[in-house]
Amino acid sequence: MDRNELIQKLESSDEWDVIIIGGGATGLGAAVESASRNYKTLLLEQADFAKGTSSRSTKLVHGGVRYLQQGNISLVREALHERGLLFHNAPHLVRNQSFIVPSYKWWEGPFYGVGLKLYDLLAGKLGLGPSKKLSREETLKRLPTIETEGLRGGVIYYDGQFDDARLAINLAESVYDQGGTPINYMKVTDLLQSGGKVKGVKVVDVEADREYQIRSKTVINATGIFADNILNMTDHEEHSTVVLSQGIHLVLDKEFLPGDSAIMVPSTDDGRVLFAIPWYDKVLIGTTDTPVDEPTLEPHALEKEINFILKHAARYLTKDPKREDVKSVFAGLRPLAKPDDAKDTASVSRDHSITVDESGLITVTGGKWTTYRKMGEDTIRKAAELAGLENKNSITENLVIHGGQNYNHTEGVLKYYGSDAAHIKKLIEEQSDWGEKLHERLPYIKAQVIWAVRNEMARTVEDFLARRTRALLLDAKASVEMVPEVARLMAMELNKDAKWHKNQVEAYREVAQNYILDC
Ligand code: FAD
Repeated sequence: MDRNELIQKLESSDEWDVIIIGGGATGLGAAVESASRNYKTLLLEQADFAKGTSSRSTKLVHGGVRYLQQGNISLVREALHERGLLFHNAPHLVRNQSFIVPSYKWWEGPFYGVGLKLYDLLAGKLGLGPSKKLSREETLKRLPTIETEGLRGGVIYYDGQFDDARLAINLAESVYDQGGTPINYMKVTDLLQSGGKVKGVKVVDVEADREYQIRSKTVINATGIFADNILNMTDHEEHSTVVLSQGIHLVLDKEFLPGDSAIMVPSTDDGRVLFAIPWYDKVLIGTTDTPVDEPTLEPHALEKEINFILKHAARYLTKDPKREDVKSVFAGLRPLAKPDDAKDTASVSRDHSITVDESGLITVTGGKWTTYRKMGEDTIRKAAELAGLENKNSITENLVIHGGQNYNHTEGVLKYYGSDAAHIKKLIEEQSDWGEKLHERLPYIKAQVIWAVRNEMARTVEDFLARRTRALLLDAKASVEMVPEVARLMAMELNKDAKWHKNQVEAYREVAQNYILDC
């Protein structure tokens, strides 16, 4: 995937069948659906793919045990079906994760045991393993650092875990493989309209500071938390269709939760779900549900959220995590479809909503990563109907995502690239120092930088450290120490000068501050 080549394609095209604004899970899902139906598809992302909410999730491909508690059976069934499909179509990025719900009260074991049996049942043939009750000893064996005081036992169940940003990159590559045109750093600034109908978009190439007017038979607004900004462009009125809810995660060293199982606490003091999940070689703990007013690409974790997570983690872990133990903190904003009468953001449905306004603009909001494919299918069906595109059946249920290939554990850090791992190994054969690690505390190697620039459209140091790899989320301080070398390799590949190198180093250091906790 080469950005210059894609810009050339954009410049030489007259009219598109489908333009999608937004390169997060929702937009990418719609773009794969559209391109795989052979519709002429353009996806425009203002920053990097998955720079928004889609790189900041809890990394679960799940039915959502919480939604079961809320009684939303159809959402859980649909999500469990999609979970099963993702296991088949992106086996290099999704893995089976065991979760244990610890019980400290007599009723918790039977109560969650029955609920999780229903979860198994809803997954049907696509289930990942049967849930079962665990004795106190079995629970301790799987969770050696769980708080022992008052522990009675637990219930084990299985769900999917994935790398959200890497899936986004592989989806962008799938769009490209299917003949579509996904371009990052392209900001839509206005809509082209004629006779009250949307006919295309005005877009600025942020890198070249160049504007384009692009015509399309249909335009899809998949901008998540920014959906209202695009809607405002249709009639210059203030729209309010999404509510924002912030969720944060803290990342700790694996010693806080050794072993393979995750902890799932179904109800904290204020009724939230809390997860502690092994992720790469670290532990991810979250999350929160805090209403927020303004959308931003770089949300900031609040002190009260950090304290909430630390306090609850301490309640369930033998070793209490302190601020200085936090390797990274990251915040994301949920774009929830605005309900008419929700009391708080935690009770707002995670269902997706597709609307078409008078101008013909299609807006898709809500949903979750797990259901991105179904959201894309529903959206493109609607778009095809509106634009009078040839009616075609969806093939995405069985479409293998770029790189899709079972883990080969001998590949080490490259196993998450699936079939692309072989190409990265060739780079190391060409130049052996590209096999060297970039930092002693993280597994990443120089060849990944070269690959990310040449094939994954990484344009900035942050693209590489935050989303092509997950250095920023796994160890923010280590990622800062990697910057000069990553910038040097990128500058060489992109043919950039010393000024670019300096700017990149400064820009990254500023962003990384948002992920490092003051002690
Ligand atoms: P985004 O990822 O925000 O994408 C929208 C994109 O539009 C952005 O990249 C933005 O830059 C772009 N954009 C905006 N304006 C413009 C413009 N003018 N021109 C061009 N581009 C523009 N789901 C799960 O399934 N499992 C989980 O474990 C899970 N955990 C979560 C935990 C948290 C804390 C949060 C916040 C969410 C979680 N979710 C989870 C939900 C999931 O992450 C989101 O539903 C999903 O990522 C939303 O994707 P999106 O594409 O709609 O939004």
